[in-house]
Amino acid sequence: MRVAVVGLGAVGSAALRFLAQQGHEAVGYEQFERGHTRGSSHGESRIYRLTYADPHYTRMMREAFRLWQALQAEAGEPLIAPCGVLWLGDADDPELRAIAAALQSEQVAFEWLTGAELTARFPAIRLELHERALFQPEGGFLRASACVRANLRLAQAHGATLCEQTRVAHIDPQPGGVWLETDSGARERFDRVLLTAGAWLPKLLPRLNLPLTVTRQTYAYFALRAGAEPAFAPERMPVWIEATRHFYGFPSDGRQAGVKVAWHRLGAVQDPDAPVRPVDDDDLAPLRECLARRLPDALPDALATATCLYTNAPDERFLLQPMPNEPRVWLVSACSGHGFKFSILNAWRAVQGLIA
Ligand SMILES: Cc1cc2nc3c(=O)[nH]c(=O)nc-3n(C[C@H](O)[C@H](O)[C@H](O)COP(=O)(O)OP(=O)(O)OC[C@H]3O[C@@H](n4cnc5c(N)ncnc54)[C@H](O)[C@@H]3O)c2cc1C
Repeated sequence: MRVAVVGLGAVGSAALRFLAQQGHEAVGYEQFERGHTRGSSHGESRIYRLTYADPHYTRMMREAFRLWQALQAEAGEPLIAPCGVLWLGDADDPELRAIAAALQSEQVAFEWLTGAELTARFPAIRLELHERALFQPEGGFLRASACVRANLRLAQAHGATLCEQTRVAHIDPQPGGVWLETDSGARERFDRVLLTAGAWLPKLLPRLNLPLTVTRQTYAYFALRAGAEPAFAPERMPVWIEATRHFYGFPSDGRQAGVKVAWHRLGAVQDPDAPVRPVDDDDLAPLRECLARRLPDALPDALATATCLYTNAPDERFLLQPMPNEPRVWLVSACSGHGFKFSILNAWRAVQGLIA
């Protein structure tokens, strides 16, 4: 079958690889160059974890993880950094309790740590007096940009065609096929089309009034005190997340200088085609406050900063469905700020639905 994938971020790159692997004539369209930094999937790291208050996501993660492992094996490069995940919060924090209950119901092993136990084991991180930590070892981070690059490289190796710097402007389903029209006016016929345009999905399908809001998000890498680096290595430091407040951070594996910290809360609404305001002191101030309470050996100097887009669906869910009255066209939006870890599974499911 001749199948087009529109948008080659985390979801589209994985879908293109699956389609090409299955022997379809797969063509991927990307409006920018591969690995660009204007969407949602660029950067060194994205958290993956089983620790959700809703066990539905724990089960999804188990399935997704097998697909990430298969990608890593086929790519022959380290894409998964299994450093474990720590949740930090008040001893009676409702989110922590809900996560613990969900893990128990799914028979996922985890540990509670006191402040002293945490410092002995993971010396870079601090708990406040009234807090405790939940540690779950089957999590860590995915090397985000490398995952996208690997999927695209392997898709091409399986025979897929990549059209970079090519924006799809219009989708035109006709009885004899689905036609795609690009910005330059070129028209191509396909048997099936998968729309994985991330933050641009509402613009691509204006008449559907998709319940998606795009927001500007930021993160930063902070310098470390001289000599503190070993305590921040992935072997000594898991990914960490603050329950309820939702600041989070990563270990430092030397690929990018400093330690990455971010805040999972909705930023300002953003038109994905408009310039994104660069990271400024208003963005950095809350991250620095978090550093002060969590990582005493991290310094307030930001070595690098980045912006990124969330495409938010109601209740932080994902979109994975055929277009209304058009089963030859499927759309996937995998974001809501936690969609990278599931992107490969959503791509797999979308390909199954599309080709069925
Ligand atoms: C700061 C930040 C932190 C995050 N942290 C995590 C995390 O720790 N764990 C986690 O699981 N998830 C996380 N996420 C979410 C995750 O990164 C996203 O869910 C995921 O990357 C979305 O991928 P996507 O393929 O849907 O979108 P994108 O990667 O944006 O891909 C869409 C692509 O479509 C292209 N495109 C759009 N329109 C067209 C068109 N008309 N023609 C051609 N091409 C087009 C775009 O250029 C883009 O490349 C985070 C997101 C952000 C922004």
